[in-house]
Amino acid sequence: MAGFLKVLLRNVLEGPSTDPFPLGKTFTPERLRGRARVDPELCMGCGICRNSCTAGAINITPLDDGSGYTITIWQNSCCLCASCRHYCPTGAMSITNDWHSAHPEEEKFNRLERHTIKYEPCAGCGTLIRPVPASLARRLYAATPEIDPEKIRRLCPQCRRQEDASRNAGVISPTTTETVAARELTSAAPTTY
Ligand code: SF4
Ligand code: SF4
Repeated sequence: MAGFLKVLLRNVLEGPSTDPFPLGKTFTPERLRGRARVDPELCMGCGICRNSCTAGAINITPLDDGSGYTITIWQNSCCLCASCRHYCPTGAMSITNDWHSAHPEEEKFNRLERHTIKYEPCAGCGTLIRPVPASLARRLYAATPEIDPEKIRRLCPQCRRQEDASRNAGVISPTTTETVAARELTSAAPTTY
């Protein structure tokens, strides 16, 4: 009994040792899987996140006039699996560590994130496209300095193919052929030891 009273007295004097939440702040781990977010600047509308979403929490709907699409994440359906982030090719999808999901019943259909994303005309032919995000284009073409990422990212697939074809035609121009032939001659020269 004396031991119990001793522990009781110590606990009363020291106060609670557990987290004070919701009356005070609580610790949130950096990598906790919370609310899913989409960055409309990076989203291409490819639909991979929707197809990989086990909970059916992501919806992508074309606009009626064909000028773009909406992407929606239903937070109440999301099971925080992070599959969308894993498969998103542009890094548009992220999982924040925001775990504050408590809400009144009447707000259950409002817990969504929705973006309307508009297409832009292809810089070559004017067809409406979703340009490749600038950061992604820079990364994709980092190893090919002869390609201008800012130019290529604004072309539709057809115009991009034509651009590639004309660039490759330039590579096999007579001048280049002579250079390549000279290089081959040099490399074919007998080696002296
Ligand atoms: S996978 Fe990424 S780029 Fe594709 S639609 Fe989803 S968020 Fe957009
Ligand atoms: S975290 Fe999982 S359940 Fe939530 S939106 Fe992404 S894929 Fe769907």
